[in-house]
Amino acid sequence: MAATVAVVRCETYETGAVHAAVGRALDLLGGAGTIVAPGERILLKPNLLVPSRPEDAVTTHPAVFEATIRHLLDAGALLSFGDSPAFGGTEVAARRAGLTAVAEKLGVGLEVFREGRAVPFPEGRLIKRFEIADQVLEADGLISLPKLKTHALTRLTCAVKNQFGCVPGMRKGEFHAKMSDIRRFAQMLVDLNRLIAPRLAIVDAIVGMEGNGPRGGDPRAVGLIIASRDMVAADAVAASVIDLPLELVETCVIGHEWGLGEAYDIRVVGEPIDAVRVEGFSANRSRASTTPGPRPHQALMKRWMTPRPTIRAERCTRCGTCVTMCPVSPKAVDWHDGDRSGPPSYRYERCIRCYCCQEMCPERAIDVHTPLASRLFRR
Ligand code: SF4
Ligand code: SF4
Repeated sequence: MAATVAVVRCETYETGAVHAAVGRALDLLGGAGTIVAPGERILLKPNLLVPSRPEDAVTTHPAVFEATIRHLLDAGALLSFGDSPAFGGTEVAARRAGLTAVAEKLGVGLEVFREGRAVPFPEGRLIKRFEIADQVLEADGLISLPKLKTHALTRLTCAVKNQFGCVPGMRKGEFHAKMSDIRRFAQMLVDLNRLIAPRLAIVDAIVGMEGNGPRGGDPRAVGLIIASRDMVAADAVAASVIDLPLELVETCVIGHEWGLGEAYDIRVVGEPIDAVRVEGFSANRSRASTTPGPRPHQALMKRWMTPRPTIRAERCTRCGTCVTMCPVSPKAVDWHDGDRSGPPSYRYERCIRCYCCQEMCPERAIDVHTPLASRLFRR
């Protein structure tokens, strides 16, 4: 059966305009009352990747957060919100993003995803047991509030990827270390979404992030609210809007294959995609895989063929975040003999290309480059 995705124009974060756009998106999906029931405890999951200001386009904008809260409160839901940022702490991130001020005004509590419980998931195709934040398990339902951004590993971070924050704290780094190629990482995300089963995604695509996302890229006006009950369909539409080929978005391809959602048979309600497509949106459209070739050759191929992180020395402030975040042991990015007078350096033979360093660098000092050998080979 076709999945339905609502696409509504909204070119400003002015509170009234966003309230109207989110309301129209909900109406196109049948109304908030068809998604939540009075008295249900609904957990909102915005993107709070790191402490960052709304204008940086890293986190879900407070105007989208506020509009969603108001519509769901009108439908009678009991709301809270939470996340587990990769770096910097939930309270700090929520305050910096402007969400705390909104939540306090509207009486919505913040949940810090610090602790979790192991949840058996025998239906998992790859992962049979997840550790999930207690608050996610205790809620009657979860509504995802992602931001449309580029991502070095998954190409797109949007509705499916947003649930990774339901895995508390450092457990996320363990997944990066174990799922060292994009296909397995995407499979893990799909299993995670199959377990959590979010009821709805409302995507903040008013201003997205292009280029060196999900933290170090550039804000880019997209002018849309995208909403769906189907995480895969929401991401497929988001990818189409920024002209990112669907076959490059593994979470959509695998999400479709594994029955999480529908990537192809989609009924778009509201604006037709062709009318809202953003031309020239900068994203990783390289077809270089992180797992090319047969297994014995993978280490070599990974070293020479897959996009690699590099540090722009002139931007590096020697903060050490990349070293801290690198999930492999021994570290693949580290100080040279402990010397912090220069930037850290890479040992690419150890690097699993998870791009956590690039994702977390606060100075936008880490780029991801496709090696020349890969570009020549794939021409
Ligand atoms: S995180 Fe960025 S700024 Fe900090 S040491 Fe690494 S490259 Fe330099
Ligand atoms: S150096 Fe960066 S990309 Fe490589 S394993 Fe460490 S965090 Fe991941």
